[in-house]
Amino acid sequence: MTTQHNEIDSAPVLSVVIPCYNEGENVPLLFGRLMPALKALEVTVEVICVNDGSSDDTLARLLAMQKSEPALRIVDLSRNFGKEKALSAGLAHSRGQAVVPMDADLQHPPEVIGEMMAKWREGWDVVFARRDARTGQSLKERTFAHGFYWVFDHLSDVRLPREVGDFRLMDRRVVETINAMPERSRFMKGIFAWVGFNHTEILYHQGERAAGLSKFSSLKLLRFAFDGLTSFSNFPLKVWGVIGAVISTLAFFYILFRIVRTLVWGIDVPGYESILVSVLFLGGMQLLTLGIIGDYLGRVFDEVKGRPLFIVRRLYEPDGPA
Ligand code: UDP
Ligand code: MG
Repeated sequence: MTTQHNEIDSAPVLSVVIPCYNEGENVPLLFGRLMPALKALEVTVEVICVNDGSSDDTLARLLAMQKSEPALRIVDLSRNFGKEKALSAGLAHSRGQAVVPMDADLQHPPEVIGEMMAKWREGWDVVFARRDARTGQSLKERTFAHGFYWVFDHLSDVRLPREVGDFRLMDRRVVETINAMPERSRFMKGIFAWVGFNHTEILYHQGERAAGLSKFSSLKLLRFAFDGLTSFSNFPLKVWGVIGAVISTLAFFYILFRIVRTLVWGIDVPGYESILVSVLFLGGMQLLTLGIIGDYLGRVFDEVKGRPLFIVRRLYEPDGPA
């Protein structure tokens, strides 16, 4: 691969983007480990912490940290927007030629960023960090995650890589593309996968949360999963058409059967046949119509999302890369 990473003057080589929601306790722990790991890389870096409307002392601690860490930039959101939007804000403010989003709770070891950079220098646009095991998660959470991936794989055209979270390295051009995506519902896992680009992966070991509790309750996770599915699949809208067609077809054969039966053996309960049959048939037709409406609605939905039709990774002109 021959990718060139042109360096813009003031822009740092690496941006680390960290969404923080009530992570006050983790701020010193995070920087205690992150900064030595970044210094070891010997490149210019910026660390962007997005304070996602924390109600604890996260912002105060970040501001205090900024006095001794000139590489730290803080994006303070007006309220809690949720991790996906906080991450989008961080990406929008990043300037680095390579961008690494990570969590504030040290579940993502900063030491592996060096490995990612090495892959990036080889010319990869995206370097996933795949966790070697799901630690720090209960059986319930693991089952839920597996169920979600199974459903997502079957309902969406986008393939989500397994055991890969938001911890990854992305080249500037990937980040620019994501920043340009106009959709408001931001399921980052899906968006990251949707934009494509060439990618490779490294393995890491995900530890337990350094301090505090996970910010995601079961209900929040369920809503997140549903958001992800509906942003990347129109199947829930269209499935009714299929169900309706099946019911109508069955009802139609049932009608034939009952007519023949009535003709041969006569009527046992007057009116029963006609009511049953018309309810079944009409019910099926209604579902079918709903499915057709769903199909159109799905297309309107796709248009409204306004995603780019295609993404050019790079243009090769006769006299070198544009
Ligand atoms: N986070 C955020 N806004 C929220 C919830 C979470 O910015 O509304 C951040 C949080 O501070 C952390 C990251 O997202 O840096 C991942 O959150 P968490 O560790 O709670 O998720 P889990 O590891 O349990 O999936
Ligand atoms: Mg965590």
